[in-house]
Parts: sequence; C-alpha cells; structure tokens
Amino acid sequence: MLGALVGDIIGSTYEWYNTKRTDFELFEKGCRFTDDSVMTLAVAKWLIEDENHSAAQLIKCMQELGRKHPDAGYGGHFYSWLFTENPQPYNSWGNGAGMRVSPVGLYATTLEEALELAEITASVSHNHPEGVKGAQAIAASVFLCKEGRSKQKIKEYVEQTFGYNLHRTIAEIRPRYGFDVSCQGSVPEAIIAFLEGNSFEEVIRLAISLGGDSDTIGCMAGAIAACRYPIPDDIVERCDSLLTEDLRDIKDRFCDFIDKRSPYVKKLTRDNYKECIGLDIIAFSSAAPGAMGDAGAVEMVTAKGEVYYANPFYEDIEMEQVFKACPPLSECRFGVFGGGVIPEGWKTVYLGFGNHLVLHESITEEFRKEVEQSEIKEVGDLYNKWMDIVKRILANRNA
Ligand SMILES: [Mg+2]
Repeated sequence: MLGALVGDIIGSTYEWYNTKRTDFELFEKGCRFTDDSVMTLAVAKWLIEDENHSAAQLIKCMQELGRKHPDAGYGGHFYSWLFTENPQPYNSWGNGAGMRVSPVGLYATTLEEALELAEITASVSHNHPEGVKGAQAIAASVFLCKEGRSKQKIKEYVEQTFGYNLHRTIAEIRPRYGFDVSCQGSVPEAIIAFLEGNSFEEVIRLAISLGGDSDTIGCMAGAIAACRYPIPDDIVERCDSLLTEDLRDIKDRFCDFIDKRSPYVKKLTRDNYKECIGLDIIAFSSAAPGAMGDAGAVEMVTAKGEVYYANPFYEDIEMEQVFKACPPLSECRFGVFGGGVIPEGWKTVYLGFGNHLVLHESITEEFRKEVEQSEIKEVGDLYNKWMDIVKRILANRNA
C-alpha cells in the first residue's frame, strides 16, 4: 500500500504538468499526497476496522477521511458524493475505483476474496462495469504479485479475465497518450508500467512518463510494484514526511495488521506437531538462540509453498518435536559464521548473525539465480527476503 502512496505523491506534480520523460525529478517542489492516497487509506481503515466489510462502513470511512482532507483534489462528482448524506453510486467508470483498491489485494487471503472486496470498494460510487473491472484488475494484480506469481502469469490472468490489452509497451503508448481518467484508459497502462519496470523506481518512472492522470497511474502501478520490489528507504522516508499524522497512523496500523496476520504461516505447537510429521519440506531456516531477529525460530517451507513456524526456545514445543516435522534439521550442526555439517542432499546458505538457511538440492540453483537477479547485496537483505524468493520459485513451479 505504501507503493500506492509513493506513486501518488511523486505523480502529484505531474498530473497537470505532464512529463513524457523518465528522468524527471522524483520529488518535484510542491509534491503532496492527493485524493488517491486519502481514499486508499480510507479503504485500508475499513478493512481493518470493519470485520463484516459492509458497504455502509466503507462509505463512512471514505466520507470521514475525505471530509478531513477536502482539498486533496477529488473530481467534481466524487466531491459531491463525499459531502452528501446517504450518497448513491453514480455509475462512474473513473479510475477512482482503481486508485483506492490496493489495500484489498494485500488484505485478501484468496484471489476470490480480493475480487469480492474490490467489487464492494468500487460499487459504492463507481458501479459502472468498467469501474468494477478496473478495481478488480488492480486488486488481483496486487494479490497475485504478493503471492509471488510471475509477471507472465499476472499478465495472462489480467488479459484473460478483464480483457485488457497488455501486449503494448510504454514506448508505444506514450506518444499518443493523453489525459484519460477512465479505468479502461489508465488501469491497463499502469499494469503495463509494472510489467515493464525492473525496480520500484523504474516502474514509477515509466508510469508517470506516460503523461495523463499521472498521480493515479503512479499510484496504481506503485501499489503492484511494491509487492515485487523493495521501495528504497529514502523514498519511503520522504513520503512519510509528506503525510499528515492521521494518514500516517492509518498507514502504520494497516501495515502492522498485514505483517502480523501472516495467514499462510502455521505455528507448530506441542499439540499439533504430530499433524506436521512428514511434511515435504524444501527449505528451512534456523536461528540460533541469541541470533539476530527471531532467536530460536525455525521457519519451514514445503514444496507446496506452505509455511510452518516453530520456536522451541520461546514457544510451547520441544526441539525433538520440531525435528519430527523437519528431520534434516536434526542432522544439522551449524558453524558460527555459516557452514557446518548438514545432511546429504541439502545446501546451506548463511543469513548472517546466527541465522542459517538450508535448501533442498532441487531448489538451490533457481534460488541462486533469483538472488543474483534481485540485487541483494548484503547478507541481512537475504535474511529478510529468502522466504519470498523461495515462495516465488515455488509459485512459478506450481502455477
Ligand atoms: Mg489525485
């Protein structure tokens, strides 16, 4: 979701003064958050505060936050909608539906859930079929990207499901592209920017270089890109400093919520470890007691991409029981600075500061290639990203 806010803020100064270049100043004087960020955060607030995900609560969240930030640059119809009691949808196909939807993709645990929630977020105002479709295409792209699906898979899914033409390049679109606030005229373009860029910053630069509704295209492309690429720290800090306290608070709460929820991780305990005997584990990490990060933790990924977690030092489970779920771990004797003794058929990768990763031979080569391509420079980076890399490899394999 941070990617959406960043794209909106960087694009804000180019909405009315379009650029067709990619080497523009990222934070031009006067850049600010706009309606895209405010409504994205309203959706985020609704997702974490309203368990029932009712349209009525969504409208309340959007109106409350929108009215607190009345000068964020809303379109005329939407402005009236914000300030009307009991507002009705007005059959809009505008990209307002796509700009605000990205938290849905991060929140959802299944693709179906992402599509359903996206429809609700669009329908309260943008209930035209193209409005709903635009929201669903962005939410689905965010969801699939978060799940580690390859760009090719995302492209195929979006083309087949929503009928957008993603077989165009930014260079082809750019010369004739003008201001277009429709979903059908900006959502596919934002997705193409994501498909074409090779880093978060490159995606944002490609998106904004199209011209048109720059903050919204930047917002939508940035939302997807942030699920695939890290956002450089200086960009994160700069954007943070441009948010108001209330917006920053919602952003932080939503990110915390998503981080903590980890719906795909199953925790092993004394009571359930027997269900986990004989898992087809393909990679696992082990943190020595006193290691940096989550000391004592063992994280395991199966060939299906399921993640299991155990911590015999701090949780209710014995080391012997963890060994039952993950037999190769029982044969590992890790060195202090990497290396050590590990069973045949496995390879070890040092993650730094007492953390070790052990990979099954069948995945080591792909893992090495992915690491090379992902610009990981420091050992600490690998500590944070190995799980995503493994899940990405498995998702592509299993897709
Ligand atoms: Mg805007």
